[in-house]
Amino acid sequence: MSTSKQPYFPPGTAYVDGDYLPLSEARLPILDWGFLHGDATYDVVHVWKGRFFRLDAHFDRFFRNVDRMHLEMELDRDGLAAILAECVRRSGLEDAFVEMICTRGMPAMPSRDPRDAINRVYAFAMPFGWVADEKQREKGLHLRIARSVTRISPHAVDPTVKNYHWLDLIMGLYEAYDQEAENVVLCDEAGNVTEGPGFNLFALIDGRMKTPASGVLEGITRKTAIDLCEMIQLPVDVTTLPADRVRGAQEVFITSTAGGIMPVTVIDDQPVADGEVGETTRRLDGLYWDKHDDPAWSTGVDELRRRHLSHADFRGRPSMSALRTP
Ligand SMILES: *Cc1c(COP(=O)(O)O)cnc(C)c1O
Repeated sequence: MSTSKQPYFPPGTAYVDGDYLPLSEARLPILDWGFLHGDATYDVVHVWKGRFFRLDAHFDRFFRNVDRMHLEMELDRDGLAAILAECVRRSGLEDAFVEMICTRGMPAMPSRDPRDAINRVYAFAMPFGWVADEKQREKGLHLRIARSVTRISPHAVDPTVKNYHWLDLIMGLYEAYDQEAENVVLCDEAGNVTEGPGFNLFALIDGRMKTPASGVLEGITRKTAIDLCEMIQLPVDVTTLPADRVRGAQEVFITSTAGGIMPVTVIDDQPVADGEVGETTRRLDGLYWDKHDDPAWSTGVDELRRRHLSHADFRGRPSMSALRTP
């Protein structure tokens, strides 16, 4: 690799230490345990055509996970909403990924005790990105079910807490690329499918939609797909899903904030059913995007900023009231 290569920073805005900066200028302290130990939790919500999608559901998950990891944030939901909306406004993006992160931070004195750490909050908005590119969304993904690596045990790292423990997923991607597949899902030790790098999986089997119950992050898009199945009166089983049953499914798709509901048409070099994108997958994908301007599931960026303006002064900094513990 050439040393003259420069990392690419997309346009976007980050929030670090009370300041808003271009993404390319945002830095974190090298001693932050979030970086050194993966000691952090995070969430990613998206903005589509100027509206946040299911922000409340993302906040429910994020604030619960911050608590579970014994992290403390001085921001409440309103304070954080103000910061996220301000990142999006400053980025000028209509379609964005908005990431919020709470890290262990670092202690105020020499200490290896996590209780001594001063926790930190970061956020940023960047252009919306997709797990599957345009061609893959049109024709369906070629997915590898990994053999060489299993998903980290849920008894070791709680997968329902969104986390940066991705080494298993990344190694799985290398296996997929070796096999000329485009993406990967990992199984648990018992050979049941779990999830892939940043997405959940669904399979239509015997006319019922199935998705793994455990060993996975409970994705907001997974929840949305389940809600949409209920809307079209398609029964859903949240259950164990052996890899062989997925290979023999009528339809398979993956779900993520990074792209919604995306078809899988080849698994381990074999077509799923006839190898065409399934009718149900297309229908759910259509409904998913239709829901993006439904006020029940979305909030305008400006509306959110106005609603929480009391939390940010004219420079967009959180006011003292927003910084105080709720
Ligand atoms: C974020 C993520 C997902 C998908 O969750 P969404 O809320 O739908 O974006 C699934 N698995 C892992 C490991 C993730 O990090």
